Amino acid sequence: MSSFLNEDVIENRNLINGEWVDSKDKIEIINPINEEVITSVPAATVEDVEKAALAARNASFNWGRLTPKDRADFLIELSNRVLGDIDNLSKLETINSGHPISVVGGEIKSAADRLKFFAGAGRTLEGRSAGEYAPGYTSIIRREPIGVAGLITPWNYPLLTAVTKMSPALAAGNTIVLKPSEQTPLTTLRLAKLANEIFPAGVINVLTGFGDVAGKQLAKSRNIDIISLTGGTNTGKQVAQIASETLKKVHLELGGKAPSIILDDANPEIVAESLKWASFWNAGQDCSAATRIIVTKANYDNILQSLKSSISKLKVGDPSIKSTEMGPLTHSKHFKNVENFVNNSEKSGAKIELGGKKIGSKGFLFQPTIITNVDQKSEIVQNEVFGPVITIQKAEDNFHAIELANDVKYGLGSSVFTNDVGIAMEASRRLKFGTVWINDHGAVTAEMPWGGFKESGYGKERSIYSIEEYTNIKHVMIKLP
Ligand code: NAD
Repeated sequence: MSSFLNEDVIENRNLINGEWVDSKDKIEIINPINEEVITSVPAATVEDVEKAALAARNASFNWGRLTPKDRADFLIELSNRVLGDIDNLSKLETINSGHPISVVGGEIKSAADRLKFFAGAGRTLEGRSAGEYAPGYTSIIRREPIGVAGLITPWNYPLLTAVTKMSPALAAGNTIVLKPSEQTPLTTLRLAKLANEIFPAGVINVLTGFGDVAGKQLAKSRNIDIISLTGGTNTGKQVAQIASETLKKVHLELGGKAPSIILDDANPEIVAESLKWASFWNAGQDCSAATRIIVTKANYDNILQSLKSSISKLKVGDPSIKSTEMGPLTHSKHFKNVENFVNNSEKSGAKIELGGKKIGSKGFLFQPTIITNVDQKSEIVQNEVFGPVITIQKAEDNFHAIELANDVKYGLGSSVFTNDVGIAMEASRRLKFGTVWINDHGAVTAEMPWGGFKESGYGKERSIYSIEEYTNIKHVMIKLP
């Protein structure tokens, strides 16, 4: 067990109805830079999930009847505690997920900001109208909490994703059962400890466990009314299928394969500096990472050279060292996937322009990698790699670039670099993605919606739209005397 991890930092147990509950089976948590075991956490069973869902159900009446202002006070208090705990949370995120310590503080601050945003946004919810639509009747629209929300998160931004899901659910008056990824549960357990000192028992329940058991049961349980997953596209399909048995509401934030279109007039140095971060932030383990760089032909050679030069300067290494800009991949199975993608693409004729190999003998560091000479239908272009790997493709003209960009099953993030406003606006209409950035890639804010098209999922996260995801609309019709 890592030296600073003791019971003051996290309880290695599940939080059910305000109590810490152990489980017989355990999951070992691994540090991705050296493969050492950090600690172990419970592997929640089907019964644990049902107990947590029942606790959330029992707490939901009182929580749902608080005023939005009263619920906001709890969220604001949690936000302040998260900010006050930034050192513990940063260390935990770095040793568990491999995020560089130099950037992880920013993620914790964003998490605290999202709690505050949703505290305020929850107070603005209203039914659209009251009016007379039939003679002798008045109609009122009520927006009500759905009940109990099952929230399942992935390993790439563990704390930030947990907060992004729980804040709108709670602000709208739902209680929650939250399951973090089996690979990276430590910051979520710390968050559970902070929250348990503030919230009434049963409002926030946290279970660590495997997707195949605990995740599936959340999708199945009759005491869960809405299931929200951030994860892979195949997982999303399974969750939607299981949830269909109870017809519970489903919200899916799934994989991405973001294109970044670089037109002839874009400045290569500006583009390269922007994509260095947009593609390699968090070692490319980002659903909106710019992974497919599509360049119109007059700019292709310049962009390739600028990208090679800027990306080769990335400081890759131990994430606990302050100067490190890119840390390891988060777990061993994922590391092997990324390695296979790169090896397979080389075997099928692609050219590795930069990187392509493991760094060191221990841990999951992978070189920032640029691949060219790829076919549009190839695996490396069509499927999500989720690592520090980009492809660069040449397009004949602007229309061809958009055609290539849209020609994947995903539809989450995308971008266009050009100085021509008219072309940028036309591109933003034609791109089939939930977000289009112009002359940038990757900036996000709590106020604006996030979500995919096509096989990247449905529903919105962040913004007021995300609170609406966690509400039911009710029509009350009053017959007047
Ligand atoms: P994953 O799908 O393997 O796991 C995500 C979560 O789902 C984990 O908590 C896991 O335990 C659980 N799970 C796995 N199988 C399940 C099942 N059958 N039923 C219920 N739950 C199950 O994904 P991952 O590898 O942890 O995360 C990476 C994926 O997440 C990538 O595809 C990435 O693009 C996606 N992602 C999307 C967004 C977004 O905003 N759209 C953000 C971050 C990550």
